[in-house]
Amino acid sequence: MRRRRFIVHVDIDAFFAAVEVLLNPALKGKPLIVGGLPHERGVASTCSYEARRYGVHSGMALRTAAKLCPQGVFVRGNYQVYQSFSEKFFDVLRRYTPDVEATSIDEAYLDFTRCGRLYASFPDAALALKAQVERETGLSVSVGVGPNKVLAKLATARAKPAGYFEIEPGREEEFLRDVPIDRLPGIGPKTQVVMRMLNIRKVGDLWGLPQSTLHSIFGLGGDEIYLQSRGIDNRPLVSGGDPKSVSRETTFLEDLWEPRLLLAHLAYLCDRLTLALRQGRFYAHIIEVKTRYADFRTEVRRRLLVVPRRDMADVYRIAEELFLELWGGSRLPLRLVGVKASDLTRLKPLSLFEPYSDRPERLGTAMDSVREKFGFGSVLTIREKMLDEVYPKDRDRGFVLKTASLTR
Ligand SMILES: [Mg+2]
Repeated sequence: MRRRRFIVHVDIDAFFAAVEVLLNPALKGKPLIVGGLPHERGVASTCSYEARRYGVHSGMALRTAAKLCPQGVFVRGNYQVYQSFSEKFFDVLRRYTPDVEATSIDEAYLDFTRCGRLYASFPDAALALKAQVERETGLSVSVGVGPNKVLAKLATARAKPAGYFEIEPGREEEFLRDVPIDRLPGIGPKTQVVMRMLNIRKVGDLWGLPQSTLHSIFGLGGDEIYLQSRGIDNRPLVSGGDPKSVSRETTFLEDLWEPRLLLAHLAYLCDRLTLALRQGRFYAHIIEVKTRYADFRTEVRRRLLVVPRRDMADVYRIAEELFLELWGGSRLPLRLVGVKASDLTRLKPLSLFEPYSDRPERLGTAMDSVREKFGFGSVLTIREKMLDEVYPKDRDRGFVLKTASLTR
């Protein structure tokens, strides 16, 4: 039997409005409408729960909202500020599992199933996540848990606002029976009209209808509704938000074959690469080195790491080995050298296979903060220092092309 999945759906409550209240506590408890001023065209993007009591909802024209709720406080909102809160939010989520699907700026699915080794109890971990998001962002969130995306999202709707609701194994049917039909994701406004005509209001009302009947009324959508009404949803999470790889490469002004100089370039690239990994909070399972010869022939060699890495010393050691394997035999002039990190993970390496020390990591972080203040060149390894000697005035003179890339 397939293992039951543990899917967590997290949604910030009245996100934009909640941020506005956080920035201006005087707005607390007021009917707040974010999206524009009452006389402006446009629509409300978020309303506080107090505003919702007047029948105002997101997507409603501002003028209509102003009529329904004349005492409402209207603000235009600041997307950049919301964006920074959103980043903090996702930052916390990714500490709990690498399987995160962002469905909007304030909403995500998380799959804990693969993290069985990390957590003694998934529900405890989900509750800890909720508390941590609230502590670190200052915003309240609702969390729903179920064996798939549809059920997890329906659980969140039940939990709102600020609650936690888990659909326990075996209780799916009991939970679904009374869920209003329009909460199912497959049910749009047109379908709702037909459902009302058929006197179907709750999910349980659908159970008497065979799949063939739903199919003949709603076509393929009917099959979807049939499955959803029974809590069946095998869709995987789509975690496309993260880069798949990070790479740095240099094309030389003139072809190079002096080993020490090539290794100095390689060290510089590894330094830049690991800085990017630390900034993105990634560890890499694959390190790859690329060489391109004067005749444009290009070779690549990669190493798979059981324990993922992101510290300079380790990544350089691996890159140097790969580079010498590629180039050491021929020692032909090179026009390009590059390093790439892929199969990225945000999970801190566990010491399952070999002892893991965070000392190199702390060294990297310390270097990062010095460089933030005094520039990248303020701390260099001895190898990199050589580039300064060869290209004394401007180290960039040695590089025709510096390519930094993130592939998604
Ligand atoms: Mg929300």
